[in-house]
Amino acid sequence: MLNKKSVDDINVKGKKVLVRCDFNVPLQEGKITDENRLVQALPTIQKLIKDGGKVILCSHLGKPKGEPKPELSLAPVAVRLAELLGQEVKFAKDDNVVGENAKAAVAAMKDGEVVLLENTRYRAEETKNGEAFSKELASLADVFVNDAFGTAHRAHCSNVGVTQFVDTAVVGYLMQKEIDFLGNAVNNPKRPFVAILGGSKVSSKISVIENLLDKVDTLIIGGGMAYTFLKAIGKETGKSLLEPDYLDYAKKMLDKAQEKGVKMLIPVDNVVAQEFSNDAPFKTVGQDIEEGYLGLDIGEETCKIYTEAIKDAKTVVWNGPMGVFEMSNFAKGTIAIAKALSEIDATTIIGGGDSAAAVNILGFGDKMSHISTGGGASLEFLEGKELPGVAAANDK
Ligand code: AMP
Repeated sequence: MLNKKSVDDINVKGKKVLVRCDFNVPLQEGKITDENRLVQALPTIQKLIKDGGKVILCSHLGKPKGEPKPELSLAPVAVRLAELLGQEVKFAKDDNVVGENAKAAVAAMKDGEVVLLENTRYRAEETKNGEAFSKELASLADVFVNDAFGTAHRAHCSNVGVTQFVDTAVVGYLMQKEIDFLGNAVNNPKRPFVAILGGSKVSSKISVIENLLDKVDTLIIGGGMAYTFLKAIGKETGKSLLEPDYLDYAKKMLDKAQEKGVKMLIPVDNVVAQEFSNDAPFKTVGQDIEEGYLGLDIGEETCKIYTEAIKDAKTVVWNGPMGVFEMSNFAKGTIAIAKALSEIDATTIIGGGDSAAAVNILGFGDKMSHISTGGGASLEFLEGKELPGVAAANDK
C-alpha cells in the first residue's frame, strides 16, 4: 500500500544518519511526565546503532517560537534516552541547533554513537520550511530518517525541507507502523469496519466524518459533538455544547449515511448536569435535554447499543472521548467504549491526543492494537489527506 523505503532498506554502516524523532514530550519542572514517545522511538534508534550508523537525533519540543527557551531544551530528553538505550546520548547544546557545537559533536562521532541536537523550533525557519535551515540540517548527514509521525501533517525543515538536500530519505519503524495501521484501516479494512468519533466539536472532525462515511460500515458519534447531531434531528439540547453553524451539515451527514447504508449511531440517552463540574448533581435523560442542563456523557442505554455495535467489528478506529472523561462522573461512556474495544477480536486503533490519553489513563492501553503517537496527524490521515512528512520521505 503506502510503500515507503524504510531503515530496513538502507546500509548505514559508517554513515551519518539524521533521524527526525517526535520527542515532543510533556515536561513538568524539567521532568518528563509521559515518556511514551521516547519509548516508541527506540526500535529505530537501536537498529541504526546496531548497524553501525552515526545516529544524529533531532526533534522539536513545545513552541519556543523561533528562539532559545531553556525550559524547552531537549537536554532532559538526552538524559532519559541514554538511560533507555543503555548508552551515552551526547547532547549537542547549541542555540543555533546546527551551530559550531553541534557540528563539532557530529564531527567527533564514532560508528554506533548517538548525538541529540537542540530543539529544532529554536530556529524560526523550522516551521516555515525554510531552505537555509533545511540545508544546514542536511549538511550534517548522509542519510535522513523520518520517524516523527506526530509532526507528519506539518511541512517543516526537519521533516520535509531537509529531504530535498540529502541523497537518501526513508521512514523509521514508528512511522512505518503508524502508516501501516492507519493506512490499512482506511484503505483496506477487515469488515465490519466501525469508526467511533467523539470529542468536543463537529467542526474539527468534519472532513473525518465525510471521508469515513465512504469507508465504514458503522459510524458511532459521542462526546460534545453528539449534541449538534441531536439538535439537527429536532431534539432539545439545553445548554450542551452546540455548533449552530453545523446543524445543516450534521443533518446532511445523517442523510448521507442512510443513503449509503452506513449505520450511523447517535446517543439515545445522556448524562446531564446543570454545571460543567464533577461536583454538580447529575442524572440520565433521553435524547431531549431540558433547559438549564448540559450533556456531559453518553447514557447507559447508549453504552449498551454502542458496545453491541462494536462487538462483531474486525476493524475499529476511535478518535475522541464519549464524554468529559477527565471528570469521574462523566467518564463512564468512555470507559465502556474502551472496555468494549479491549474485549473484541479486532484491529483496534486509537487516534492520538485525548482518546489515546483516555485509553491509557483508564488502563486499557496495552489491550489496543495500536495507539497513534500523533493526534493531529492521525486525524488528517483519517481525513484522507496525504501527510507532507510522509510524502517527503518517499523512495529517495
Ligand atoms: P477533542 O480534542 O475534540 O477530541 O475533544 C476532547 C475533549 O472533549 C475532552 O477534553 C472532553 O472533556 C471533551 N468533551 C467530551 N464530551 C464532552 C461534552 N459532552 N461536553 C463538553 N466537552 C466534552
